[in-house]
Amino acid sequence: MAGIYIHIPFCAKQCTYCDFHFSTTFESYRGQLLTALSTELELRADAWKNEPIETIYFGGGTPSLLTGAEIQALLSTVYLHYNASAVKEITLECNPDDCSADHLSAWKSAGVNRLSIGIQSFTDAQLAWMNRTHTGDEGLKAVERAVAAGFEQLTVDLMYGLPDLSQQAWLEQLKRVIALDVDHISAYCLTVEEKTVLASRVKSGKIHPSTADQQSEQFELLVSTLAAAGFEQYEISNFAREGKYSQHNTAYWQGKKYVAIGPSAHGFDGINRYWNVANNQLYMRQIETGVLPETIEELTNQDRFNELLMVGLRTKWGVVKAELVALITLDKGWYKKLESWKESGAVEETGTHLLLTQAGRLLADAIASDLFVIDE
Ligand code: SF4
Repeated sequence: MAGIYIHIPFCAKQCTYCDFHFSTTFESYRGQLLTALSTELELRADAWKNEPIETIYFGGGTPSLLTGAEIQALLSTVYLHYNASAVKEITLECNPDDCSADHLSAWKSAGVNRLSIGIQSFTDAQLAWMNRTHTGDEGLKAVERAVAAGFEQLTVDLMYGLPDLSQQAWLEQLKRVIALDVDHISAYCLTVEEKTVLASRVKSGKIHPSTADQQSEQFELLVSTLAAAGFEQYEISNFAREGKYSQHNTAYWQGKKYVAIGPSAHGFDGINRYWNVANNQLYMRQIETGVLPETIEELTNQDRFNELLMVGLRTKWGVVKAELVALITLDKGWYKKLESWKESGAVEETGTHLLLTQAGRLLADAIASDLFVIDE
């Protein structure tokens, strides 16, 4: 079982905090790039012919800049060249201002059955400094229109840890997102990534980022408020009602294989990780000559061990101990560190799994990196 991730490297404009790969000047080669994505799907198909595809995910960038016909064309290539008769979930990431009734209906007809709507905030002033393309009201309307268009699986993205976001204001945002009555919410803490507009504004003192304490308080409010509203935190940043998990992302968190298509996309074939060149022109040129524009990294057992820990500990399922010890012979020093996290109440050990407690979720990155095995 595997998934397909298709990266659409276009955005209408640049959000201040974003360090993903995208271009805002793409119209002159839009068709050429979409053809290259289809060609890459074909080039990779042979290697994946024995893998039933269960999920397809259009991420970006801004995949909602694609028309229904463009999505349909990419999906047709998938159906033609992959074992995709049992696909269960096709997700499209969208920006609220792209969610017109016409677009929604066309995406649905093309086969998309799950939308991930990037609301981020309901406050226009916050959206303005983020340089988002939409208002808070458009976020609300996008969800209403998606429901009206018949989408039953909806998730929305929110951000916390924003400069000047008070606890009260964050609580108001959470109440508004709960009132949307969607079954899935992702909430991410704003991070200041290098070489972003946000980083330069922070450096020049124009923006004062939130403190680690504020971020922790907002995370705790997020978890308690969504739990009270019936959401299960199945991954540190992801909350679902009644088991309505993202199947694509869950497979990724559980270490399953996925094909990645498009500039900068990262894939995993069960043994090796690969990533495509993060440059649209180079990507198209290489694909046009029949060459995959990829770098392949063969993962060592140590790499796999550290990845299992880093990703698995963030989920409610935790990490399977047998999978860890099958990869690395662990020494006394490692078990001592584990014991100390257990004694501090951050990690729980069952007969089969290692799990983070709620207190541990605040320290997930620190715990994972402490338990990483650095030298085999
Ligand atoms: S729309 Fe998404 S990918 Fe594009 S700049 Fe904004 S955050 Fe980045």
